[in-house]
Amino acid sequence: MPYRPKRPCNYPGCPNLSNQSYCEVHRQQARREAARTYNRNQRDMELQRFYQSAAWRKLRAIKLMRNPMCEVCYANGRIEKATIVDHERAVKDYWEGRLDMENLTSVCLSCHSRKTRKEEAARRDGNGEPLKQNDERISMWQRDDIRF
Ligand SMILES: [Zn+2]
Ligand SMILES: [Zn+2]
Repeated sequence: MPYRPKRPCNYPGCPNLSNQSYCEVHRQQARREAARTYNRNQRDMELQRFYQSAAWRKLRAIKLMRNPMCEVCYANGRIEKATIVDHERAVKDYWEGRLDMENLTSVCLSCHSRKTRKEEAARRDGNGEPLKQNDERISMWQRDDIRF
């Protein structure tokens, strides 16, 4: 085995010397972080694949045919063309509901951005955990302030 001089650990601020990139402590941490990143990327890929799937495209087209107008605007007495088919419960929180017609809402862009902002705020409040859902469906549309 060739001699390799010990170098400081690559972890910022760590004074430990090691003959690998990370010291014992940070090697484990680096491995855990890599696993987390891997899982996140896997999930993003799965989501991407879903949105490109024939099944989703077809369901989306049917939904827009049934409800061509923004359902949220309509409920508020406005007529606006729907351009987005939204999952009432986000796909990443409720994978089983991704192809459930009952979980879909036709919306316009501005209604969709408003809901996305609310969902993201709720996710942040929940420490990045998936949204908690009761058995009865929570309508994100009707909730102005979301607290869990
Ligand atoms: Zn270290
Ligand atoms: Zn709208």
